[in-house]
Amino acid sequence: MLQLVFATNNHHKLQEVAAKIKGRTDLLSLDDIGCFDEIAETGHTFRENASIKSKYIYHKYHLNCFGDDSGLEIDALNGEPGVYSARYAGKQGDHDANINKVLDKLGPTNNRNARFRTVISLIWNGEEHFFEGTVEGTIRHERSGSEGFGYDPIFQPAGYDITFAEMSLDEKNLISHRAIAVENLAAFLGAV
Ligand code: IMP
Repeated sequence: MLQLVFATNNHHKLQEVAAKIKGRTDLLSLDDIGCFDEIAETGHTFRENASIKSKYIYHKYHLNCFGDDSGLEIDALNGEPGVYSARYAGKQGDHDANINKVLDKLGPTNNRNARFRTVISLIWNGEEHFFEGTVEGTIRHERSGSEGFGYDPIFQPAGYDITFAEMSLDEKNLISHRAIAVENLAAFLGAV
């Protein structure tokens, strides 16, 4: 079976992707290939960051591989937090502080449109391919729910009256930005 490296050590993400591309490729994590390097996300767009990860692995190991980058874009904040989603309030991964910053900056405004976006950069036989997934929604005035992670408690996907944090993982995985991007990747891999 063809080997494909996912430039991540997030096992939750790895399982999600593995479930979608099962049988087509042998999916490996960075741990699996013995890569313990910190790959700095210095890009200014999701594309750049996804590309930095896939190119780093490709140039070092010469294996087919992909990297991903995701985040939340809020219209009234000119697209913030965007690529800074994980460290919006300063400290990497402080989700509670990040949510507080978003709610403070938005204040009582009624323009609460937002979207989650994922970009995947795949290097397949030396060529780069991009895959995207987005889910539109709105930012609640207050947190609701305790499932998921990150901005899930304040993000209500369009067409629903609950937040991502009030959905089961299975329910979220049917409509999430990451799931859509991975579906697009899986469709490509199914066709090659
Ligand atoms: P990553 O690039 O997928 O690691 O995502 C970067 C950051 O975007 C995360 O640390 C979260 O703050 C935010 N984010 C990405 N995807 C989600 C999601 O599905 N729910 C909530 N927050 C997310």
